[in-house]
Amino acid sequence: MSFVLHVDGARWRAGLDRFVTAHPGVVPVIKGNGYGFGRDLLCAEASRLGVPMIAVGTYAELPTALAAFGHDVLVMEPFRAAVHGGVPDLANRRVVHTVTAADDLGALRGVEPDARVVVEGLTSMNRFGAPVDEVGALAADAGAEGVTLHLPLGTGHVEEISRFISAVPGIRRWFVSHVSAAELATLAGRHTDLELLPRIGTALWYADPASYEVRAHVLDVRPVVKGDHAGYRQRSLPSGHLVVVSGGTSHGVAMESPSSAATARTRAIAVAEGVLEAAHRVRSPFTVSGTMPRFAEPPHMQCSLLVLPDGVAPPRVGDEVTVRMRLTTTTPDAVVVS
Ligand SMILES: *Cc1c(COP(=O)(O)O)cnc(C)c1O
Repeated sequence: MSFVLHVDGARWRAGLDRFVTAHPGVVPVIKGNGYGFGRDLLCAEASRLGVPMIAVGTYAELPTALAAFGHDVLVMEPFRAAVHGGVPDLANRRVVHTVTAADDLGALRGVEPDARVVVEGLTSMNRFGAPVDEVGALAADAGAEGVTLHLPLGTGHVEEISRFISAVPGIRRWFVSHVSAAELATLAGRHTDLELLPRIGTALWYADPASYEVRAHVLDVRPVVKGDHAGYRQRSLPSGHLVVVSGGTSHGVAMESPSSAATARTRAIAVAEGVLEAAHRVRSPFTVSGTMPRFAEPPHMQCSLLVLPDGVAPPRVGDEVTVRMRLTTTTPDAVVVS
């Protein structure tokens, strides 16, 4: 059985090239499941794109990134002495650490006196960072290469970022996350002496959504009549066909909130029953014979049972069906770049 992300390599790369040209200074973010493509593939693409730096989410992601990408790697999670004191690669000259507190900076300096660092400012995101009135002193102590700011989704960030910029004179490089191109242009107009470097994952790797798709195999097809039962829970079926496809919870099927596809009612059911339990109430992400059939029951670990109603022509065993799902929560069996 297989659940495969197929990438039209030439088309995907053309989208990446256009994106990088349109976003000078972009620092590609490569983290988690590698946005569905896998982190190694994205590191190889970043190398091909010729960017001088990538950003990873965590120290756990650092060794493979350093192996797969030959230039600088920014770690976006802050260095915490209590958590990361013993991780490998702290002293690697290509690693840029994020610090938010003097204690952590001291501990990092204890391991590697010349460690390269940026200081993260605490924005309205309220996740990590040093408060705006402490960033300047910390950055000066650290000899920081830059300041990083992570903003909430949406717009309206220009004033907040400007407050940091005025509070920390002397810092040239500002790594910003979730700041729109228009906001960056406004900021660049106001602060012509600064380098504003957007850290971007989603918009970059998914620049051309038509350049890739997930496809699953049809594993079995069986006619059923109303009142037949199937699955772990023995729910009763309508008449039509039961279609077994590859792709289950281990691939991330139905693990995302159905908010994008569903009505207020199905959203409410998902909240009440849990996303997975509610899966059979919503349309599955599989497109079979031109329709998006319902799940017969919540997906299994590696396959899913779908119900195709009467009147819809059934697929054949071995057919490929497309799957529409958010790649940040997708773990395909394989990624095939053609
Ligand atoms: C994940 C992350 C990004 C990239 O986010 P996208 O929405 O994928 O572009 C940027 N900055 C930080 C701090 C992040 O954690």
